[in-house]
Amino acid sequence: MNVPIKCSCSKVQGYLEDVSPKCGNHLKCMCDDCQRFAEYLNNETHILDENGGTEIFQVSPSSIKFTQGQENLTCLRLTQKGILRWYTSCCNTPIANTISYKMAFAGVILNCLDFSGLNKDDVLGPVKYYCMAKYCIGDAPEGANAGFSKLLTLKIIISLLIGRLLKRYSPNPFFNEETGQPISKPFILIKPIQ
Ligand SMILES: [Zn+2]
Ligand SMILES: [Zn+2]
Repeated sequence: MNVPIKCSCSKVQGYLEDVSPKCGNHLKCMCDDCQRFAEYLNNETHILDENGGTEIFQVSPSSIKFTQGQENLTCLRLTQKGILRWYTSCCNTPIANTISYKMAFAGVILNCLDFSGLNKDDVLGPVKYYCMAKYCIGDAPEGANAGFSKLLTLKIIISLLIGRLLKRYSPNPFFNEETGQPISKPFILIKPIQ
């Protein structure tokens, strides 16, 4: 099934194609960088859960389709070499985290998915991984990993290798297919937000 993508002001719309619990990794990341990104967007109350966790579904970028408002996609790097964190400039809705063009990886942040009329846990399956609990606010959820889950890391490495072989990085809505550069020049946030 396709799940609609919609920013909070509805300028940016699209869909996540052929979603099922098998096609991605459903996780919460409680790391300080994800928390800092939410703070930068001034949108912590919507993005972060009670543990400071961001809910993410990791998929191939080729399954992310935008139908309007793509020009509002903006990206940020917290540090010079940090991952590319995409959000909408119209209303600061986080969209996804990506690495680079040929890395067939996009961690879609659930705030941009519209589950109206759908049961999220049926569509994505329940959250399987609670990562980076060393930055957790309050008591960590049961089964949380202090760092990144080893199983999840292995799954990501395998899917990156397969994604490279099968060219799952293309089409890619976040990068220029000819140059491999992000469609919006990353803004680098060097100073941490206090
Ligand atoms: Zn918007
Ligand atoms: Zn994180």
